[in-house]
Amino acid sequence: MVSINAYSFNPIGRVHSCFKEKFGIPRQPGLVAGARATVEMLPPYVEAEAFRGLTEFSHIWLLFVFHAVPTGRWKPTVRPPRLGGNRRLGVFATRSTFRPNPIGQSVVKLDGIRQSRGRLVLQISGIDLLDQTPVLDIKPYLPYADALPEAHGGFAAEAPRRLATVRFTASARRGLNAAALRHGYDLEGLVADLLKHDPRPAYHAQRPPGAPYGMRLEDLNIEWRVVGSEVVVTAVTRLETRETR
Ligand code: SAM
Repeated sequence: MVSINAYSFNPIGRVHSCFKEKFGIPRQPGLVAGARATVEMLPPYVEAEAFRGLTEFSHIWLLFVFHAVPTGRWKPTVRPPRLGGNRRLGVFATRSTFRPNPIGQSVVKLDGIRQSRGRLVLQISGIDLLDQTPVLDIKPYLPYADALPEAHGGFAAEAPRRLATVRFTASARRGLNAAALRHGYDLEGLVADLLKHDPRPAYHAQRPPGAPYGMRLEDLNIEWRVVGSEVVVTAVTRLETRETR
């Protein structure tokens, strides 16, 4: 029998995501439908049998490790961005990544399962996951048990407020269209959706209007400014990177 004091788990898969850094990732799954990733299964789980029946479900739960959070840095209280970063709540009343056990859970859409040349890959979307996230478990989402319309949402009862419009300069749009051809999906739409969710940290509200921001997405650096409720994407630059997908 396993000791009740210590458990050790090995990842069963690894996420390959369009998000190469934490900044700019949606704060929960399902907020940005076009945010996609794959979960590449690791041996000995590269095994079609283990997934028999899963494609009958539209959504799955992923249990994963917040691997990019420094260990041992949790505190009993945290400042949720939703409360402007100036109210402290108990860590267990939040979805903070700084937790005693850095385990995350996300419901994501299952778009398909691909198997070829000894690889087994789950295609997922609506994600809030950093590239290379280690996956501990995969379970089907059960609407009859997991969807609870009568549930109370505490300080996060409503979906987050969205910014009104996202505008692109002509050169930014050209950069995104070129990247869309390389990656095979609509990057302009994805950037518009991501930025409508205003990834700026709450404590940046004090920065002057129009202050510049940047984030990495796929092999791109995206630069933008927020003025009032409008986002302007000012530049899109291709970075020299090694593709991991
Ligand atoms: N849905 C999950 C949950 O509730 O457990 C994650 C919520 S957490 C607030 C989402 C944020 O975690 C993302 O916006 C991103 O900044 C961060 N994140 C995602 N994957 C991560 C990883 N592997 N390591 C560290 N931080 C990560």
